[in-house]
Amino acid sequence: MQLSPHFSLAELTKSQAALRRGLDNTPGEREITNLRRLANAVLEPVRARFSVPFSPSSGYRSPALNRLVGSHDGSQHLTGEAADFELPGVSNVEVARWIAAALEYDQLILEFYEPDDPSSGWVHCSLKAGDNRRQTLTIGRAGVRLGLV
Ligand SMILES: [Zn+2]
Repeated sequence: MQLSPHFSLAELTKSQAALRRGLDNTPGEREITNLRRLANAVLEPVRARFSVPFSPSSGYRSPALNRLVGSHDGSQHLTGEAADFELPGVSNVEVARWIAAALEYDQLILEFYEPDDPSSGWVHCSLKAGDNRRQTLTIGRAGVRLGLV
């Protein structure tokens, strides 16, 4: 099932961890609706802006998968509202800064980015149907900070 021109439900639910453990990672209708919104309003504009095809490393996570990867119960991956991604050859901080300036989002997190290695870390971005907080965080070894590096 395609969620948007360049992103499929399969790639937003695939998980090596789930496959290894035999965990079912099938979302329900509500989660699919959320993934579709995220693909069209965040992932597609990012792909178009940087002209780089990419596949998110994590989208929807079932409760069992979310626990397995050590995430918290409030994670928006559980609702299909969040994805983690990076674009080949593009600095993650550059991607995060563009999203912060150009797109509607609920929470944008630059995770484990090291300035001396532009490809380090990844970008986590979530989007809800409404009441988006536009909260921007940097998370790394030093902890959590508001804003981007
Ligand atoms: Zn994430």
